[in-house]
Amino acid sequence: MKSFISSGIKYIAIFFLFLMALPVTGQKKNESGFLGKADLYKAKKDVLEYLGDSITVKNFGLISDSIWTYAELGMQEFKSSALLIKKLEDEGFKVEKGVAGMPTCFVATWGNGKPVIGILGEYDALPMISQKALTPFQDPIINGAPGHGCGHNMMGTAGIAAVIAVKRSMKLNNLSGTIKFFGSPAEETLISRPYMIRDGVFRDVDAVIDNHASSNLGTGYGVSGNAVISVLFSFKGKTAHAAGAPWNGRSALDGVELMNVATNYLREHLFYTYRMHYVITEGGEAPNVVPDKATVWYYIRNTDDRLEETYQRVVDCAKGAAIASGVYLDSITVLSATHQKHSNKALAENLQRNIELVGLPEWAEAENIFAKSLQKELGAEESGYPVKINPLREPASAQSGGASTDVGEVSLIVPVATLNFPGEVPGSIGHHWSTVATVYGKAAWKGLITGAKVMAATALDLISKPKVLEEITTEFAEYSKKHPYKTFLPEGAMPPLYLNKELMDKYLKAGMDNKIEDE
Ligand SMILES: [Zn+2]
Repeated sequence: MKSFISSGIKYIAIFFLFLMALPVTGQKKNESGFLGKADLYKAKKDVLEYLGDSITVKNFGLISDSIWTYAELGMQEFKSSALLIKKLEDEGFKVEKGVAGMPTCFVATWGNGKPVIGILGEYDALPMISQKALTPFQDPIINGAPGHGCGHNMMGTAGIAAVIAVKRSMKLNNLSGTIKFFGSPAEETLISRPYMIRDGVFRDVDAVIDNHASSNLGTGYGVSGNAVISVLFSFKGKTAHAAGAPWNGRSALDGVELMNVATNYLREHLFYTYRMHYVITEGGEAPNVVPDKATVWYYIRNTDDRLEETYQRVVDCAKGAAIASGVYLDSITVLSATHQKHSNKALAENLQRNIELVGLPEWAEAENIFAKSLQKELGAEESGYPVKINPLREPASAQSGGASTDVGEVSLIVPVATLNFPGEVPGSIGHHWSTVATVYGKAAWKGLITGAKVMAATALDLISKPKVLEEITTEFAEYSKKHPYKTFLPEGAMPPLYLNKELMDKYLKAGMDNKIEDE
């Protein structure tokens, strides 16, 4: 009898051991073979269930596709911002509009008291890269019109999907705290965040989750990218008959051209992290009239500590060019200026835990067929959509310069980390028709919902686990002592609300608005 009981206990024990070895419900082994370590408590389970529902996916997917179709350039995102605001208001968020003097900037808030967790979102397009959706070769909808070549249509949408999911879960589970969405226009021209900060928009926020569309899930920490000053140099000369009496004229375009020659000679002597590029936005209207007005728009980029020195040298080039060509340097207008991004390690680590919990979506065969045909067209590896997530990205051992984001500005005010989420075809090129082709339709929907799941799960960790948030804010407080924030904006700088208005009007007249893509 005794031996029968003991062998029975043995079998029960083995059965329980077997149960313990099974994955927790909903915590499936993801494609990387990594079993999600993050604990799946009820509030987190609720956000994942809401975002995983097919109706939710379609609702947010259609918002993303609509913003893709509007393809509104920075400072002109009237329909895109209105669509996001409507969804947030329908969900009971209080929305402050026209924030920091920008009509398409808004802040949506739900809840009360501490902690205050923010999610950033963008929705502006890029000029010149119009492209038909899901078409694996260059085929513009309207030649020269704007397109979503950086996936910002998915990003604003992923951000609102995340805050709405968090709000629903907070309500269901009686969690206190505040969740905010920062509708940030004109990221491509790096405009909104420096002005939002100047207006104190992030004053009471404890931590901010940023997001960017990509071809895979991923995050990282440390300093990245470049600081930047976006600035217009305008020259003033005198008109004259360009053939009859050219000696009476002074060409403002000569001022611009000599300035560009001077800055191009400057390159040899700039520290290697610099990037510098320009377009001439005003340079006369006919060759037979000496132009009396000309303007060049520069992005001057370098690391935080070298930016102002680089900028000053370009200003000297402009002054020298004006003297040499006998014209006036009429105005220098700084449109915006931002720092490098300083991502918080503890926040990135928490994002990574949720990346591993959520994992990649499953891609349909038709989606992979499209991805491979686009990859073939671009000469990229024909691998289809990704099946393995990225490990946590560590800071580069040396600064290498590169692109900029005005998220960098926020990262010196509150702890920030950026989530990259999938949806773009690997090998598609940023700011290029190939990205416009991929950030629309079902694969993009899956990608942005995956991003929303990771952000919502992370926001809930920050709201409901004081220790997680404390680690993040303590790291930030220490970091801020060595990197106190000081704006690069000159006094009196104003957001250029006029930017892109003419371009948008031109393409709206050309019928851009009416072209709704088929799925
Ligand atoms: Zn972007």
